[in-house]
Amino acid sequence: MSTVLVVNSGSSSFKYQLIEMATERVVAKGLVERIGEPVGVIKHQNLLSGVEYDEELPIPDHAVGFDTMFQAFRHYGPEHSGLIAVGHRVVHGGATFVDPVLITDEVAAEIEALSVLAPLHNPGAVQGIRAAQHAYPDVPHVAVFDTAYHQTLPPAAYRYAIDRELADAHQVRRYGFHGTSHAFVAAAAAEFLGKDLSELNAIIFHLGNGASVTAVRAGKSVDTSMGMTPLQGLVMGTRSGDIDPAVLFHLHREAGLDVVGLDTLLNKRSGLVGLTGTGDFRDVLSAAAEGSANAAEAIDIVVHRLRHYLGAYFFQLERVDAIVFTAGVGENNALIRARTLAGLERLGIEVDPARNESSERGARRISSDNAEVAALVVPTNEELAIARQAASLVAAAD
Ligand code: ADP
Repeated sequence: MSTVLVVNSGSSSFKYQLIEMATERVVAKGLVERIGEPVGVIKHQNLLSGVEYDEELPIPDHAVGFDTMFQAFRHYGPEHSGLIAVGHRVVHGGATFVDPVLITDEVAAEIEALSVLAPLHNPGAVQGIRAAQHAYPDVPHVAVFDTAYHQTLPPAAYRYAIDRELADAHQVRRYGFHGTSHAFVAAAAAEFLGKDLSELNAIIFHLGNGASVTAVRAGKSVDTSMGMTPLQGLVMGTRSGDIDPAVLFHLHREAGLDVVGLDTLLNKRSGLVGLTGTGDFRDVLSAAAEGSANAAEAIDIVVHRLRHYLGAYFFQLERVDAIVFTAGVGENNALIRARTLAGLERLGIEVDPARNESSERGARRISSDNAEVAALVVPTNEELAIARQAASLVAAAD
């Protein structure tokens, strides 16, 4: 069987899925965590046989991590001799990478150089790439970038209004993220509506732990809420999203926070965590249901920001065929969808409550039949998107 191994590597862990391309089924998946700590852990699942393997062992670096994974495949299966590519998720492709690429030494070096823009993400990806290349030297490795889909943004959307030379010298601009998901969902929404992707205008809300919204015109990304880094835009699990940058100067002067403290505050201790103490949306919903005023207010803030972007992108696009919700919160939470779209009948937006609350899986319509703008829930699948892109790049290179 022809398979693609999809790898999502961070600085101290990586996740993987083995996908059989003929059926697009996940046949194995796993997680290697606590790399570099005294005791690491591997969790490997063979989804064909049902065998699961968990072990704690020292995993000093990514190379040992990939060797451990390789041995798990050998001992617990599935057999993966039909591997045609390894697809790597890479968070930041800067302005260099507009498409998936075959990873050469130069490409790996360029991804490493982009670490200045994504210090939390790219170094781990490069460590994963090098270790995976060592474990699978005879298979092509492909990098798929979270930023790539947004490389069609026009300057009006990507340029920040600051000193041009300073910005250019330091690669400061909007890049946007979650691109693999937004692209996958745009294509799936077009298919659901029976439209050609090149004819689709849509607003796509990817609402997971990280959250972003993208304006899609004629199938292409023309604006997106995340910025130079994944911090800008919507309220997220632990990230603030949009904020007046002068708050940072103020907190530096008045609260004594330095750069590291401010970075930690906005990336790790803000959003739902900052507002309520928990970053998991389900916990915030139950706290609100039990009467927590902070949790109720946090939900109001989340919805306010979602509607802010909905309005902005609705006007930028002028014609909107579909508003699409995806990822953990977007796919599962009827309340957020209903509140984001409430009261907009005059714009052709109308949610059908029964459809919205249905627990049906798969792509589905949640708007009423007479609504001019389709409201949809479309499950995302970033791993499958990466596997497809890696497979097609390898086929084209043959
Ligand atoms: P990630 O960005 O890590 O991929 P996910 O897309 O898995 O995240 O989304 C995680 C978020 O989705 C969490 O805040 C979680 O609470 C939320 N979520 C998952 N299932 C539900 C649900 N049934 N109702 C509400 N929120 C949910």
